[in-house]
Amino acid sequence: MSVTPLGIRPDQCLINGLWQPPLSGARLALIDPSSGETLCEIARGGQADIDAAVVAAAAARNGDWGRLSAAERGRILHRMGTLVLDNIDELARLEAMDVGKPLRQARADVTALARYLEFYGGAADKVHGTTIPYLDGYTVYTLREPHGVTGHIVPWNYPMQIIGRSVGAALAMGNAAVLKPAEEACLTALAFGEIAQRAGLPAGALNVVPGIGAEAGAALSAHPGVQHVSFTGSVGVGRLVQGAAAANVVPVTLELGGKSPQIVFDDADIDDALPFLVGAGIQNAGQTCSASSRILAQRGVYDQVVARMSAAYGALRVGPALADLDVGPLISDRQQKIVTGFLAQGSDLTTAATGQIADDAPSGGSYVAPQLFADVPPDHVLAQDEIFGPVQVIIPFDDEDEALAIANGTDYGLVASVWSRDGARQMRLARAIRSGQVFINNYGAGGGVELPFGGTGLSGHGREKGFEALYGFSTLKTVAARHG
Ligand code: NAD
Repeated sequence: MSVTPLGIRPDQCLINGLWQPPLSGARLALIDPSSGETLCEIARGGQADIDAAVVAAAAARNGDWGRLSAAERGRILHRMGTLVLDNIDELARLEAMDVGKPLRQARADVTALARYLEFYGGAADKVHGTTIPYLDGYTVYTLREPHGVTGHIVPWNYPMQIIGRSVGAALAMGNAAVLKPAEEACLTALAFGEIAQRAGLPAGALNVVPGIGAEAGAALSAHPGVQHVSFTGSVGVGRLVQGAAAANVVPVTLELGGKSPQIVFDDADIDDALPFLVGAGIQNAGQTCSASSRILAQRGVYDQVVARMSAAYGALRVGPALADLDVGPLISDRQQKIVTGFLAQGSDLTTAATGQIADDAPSGGSYVAPQLFADVPPDHVLAQDEIFGPVQVIIPFDDEDEALAIANGTDYGLVASVWSRDGARQMRLARAIRSGQVFINNYGAGGGVELPFGGTGLSGHGREKGFEALYGFSTLKTVAARHG
């Protein structure tokens, strides 16, 4: 696949509005997780390409891009959103093949990318400073200004959604962006670069440099010409990125992992809850930072939750992305080994149910059958560590205090939900749960782009999505005029 209908060349970088091979000429194989075969070759960008991208971004910020009004920036983002929807079939197919996710999930991701561009396009001219009452003879006000050049390091699991929320918000505020997509899945990041060009984004305002994390990613996070780094990925790499940015004393946003609970009380509507309990665990084969990998069920409904989730797991079918079954392959052999390693550590647990891998799934694909464990002690490794695979544990509890202790009993704090008809309990737990988002009688609220998202603890810090992201991708200046 050297050229796709959108015209991207996967073995090139987008720098200063021009598609060009990496300066070293090096390439990497991009593997199709559904088959294990090579999809195409991608550019292996490195330090020199990141240097060129940062120089181009700084020039755009000080040039054509920096001079546009907020309304004009918004218009360009809107055009990008329209082009994304115009190309929904191709983008969905690229994302599905590249990540291994079922086609319908990939289509939902394209729609989400368009929504981010619409939302941030509309918000671009609505971020206001304030006036501050002060001493007689002074007028004081604040200005929201872009950081300058922003670096965006994204993972392979939801490339389009994460690019939308991170690069979309950064551009809306007038930053110029350098995007380093993941080496395992970068095709839609390249397509996004092409769409930005076609929508009229000035050269250099968005640069895309694919490559290996330890090379292009490390170069971007440590670059002295970058004024803000947005990182989504693992805790270990997040620490490295924050350390690198600290050397330049620039802010970072870290969107890391999770071990997110759904707490089901005796008075919950189980019919209502069931699709969320299972869906939030197996979506994207469990490779979702906000996956709900822990189900906490009160004793009165515990057996019912186990039985009904088990029945749903028994019906799950796993297969190639384009077959569009319930679950696709994991991203790579490496991820498959990590997940099967965790499953081996669960040999002392009760397996309540498993899904089925389709007979015709290619033998070279990275498939793992979804697995549901019951009666899991809260301190078991499978109830504590992020697995990043289609694996959920069910943990029984007696009362609200115990549920809260278990829910808060990991190092993470990204997302949680409470299933109960008791309004007072809903409010108590919404406050007491240590988490960036809490959902009441739902999980994820449909993923709304409007809803600020981010973690506490090992889940990271900073917020993306919603209006909140615009504050993160800008800096505040106070102006105090003494006029007598
Ligand atoms: P990863 O940390 O290995 O890679 C993420 C990105 O960082 C990739 O682009 C990679 O190339 C880059 N990278 C790797 N090493 C680097 C380095 N030394 N310096 C700079 N960049 C480097 O993570 P992954 O395996 O791709 O993704 C899985 C993890 O990401 C999971 O733990 C998951 O929870 C987390 N995640 C979190 C969110 C969120 O929004 N909170 C979303 C998706 C994934």
